[in-house]
Amino acid sequence: MTVPDTEVERRVRVLSQALRGAGLRLTHQRLEVAREIARSEAHPDTETVYRNVRLRVPTISVDTVYRTIATLEGLGLITRVDATPGAARYDANLEHHHHFVCTRCGLIRDVYHPSLDKVEAPDVADQLGKVESIRVQLRGLCKSCEGKENEDERRE
Ligand SMILES: [Zn+2]
Ligand SMILES: [Zn+2]
Repeated sequence: MTVPDTEVERRVRVLSQALRGAGLRLTHQRLEVAREIARSEAHPDTETVYRNVRLRVPTISVDTVYRTIATLEGLGLITRVDATPGAARYDANLEHHHHFVCTRCGLIRDVYHPSLDKVEAPDVADQLGKVESIRVQLRGLCKSCEGKENEDERRE
């Protein structure tokens, strides 16, 4: 599963324009951080972005990765995935969508479905505040973890 090239290029253009707009010089390093996030469907954490970018840019520091991600998040161009265990995970897909989260290995995948888009806020929500959007998080075991669980059961 990969993000189509044209979409990656579009996202990289948006992200790099924003970095420049925020007054940051568009260095090769920052551009590679933006590209890594833009092309990933894995909702990577900072450490993963750092590891992957380092393969192409061995001189990059983890600090540069942190700051570039923080800037992009501050500008609202990438979002942090809500309520995931462990380190913060980032999403460059700004279209309205939902997530499947594996509670064992932390896999996160985008989910699009009209039935999830139709979920309505219940009346009790009004007492808490104004609901502006609803994102559904489907939690469970991914195929791979489920497979492992079945193997374990057979062994017992
Ligand atoms: Zn899993
Ligand atoms: Zn997502």
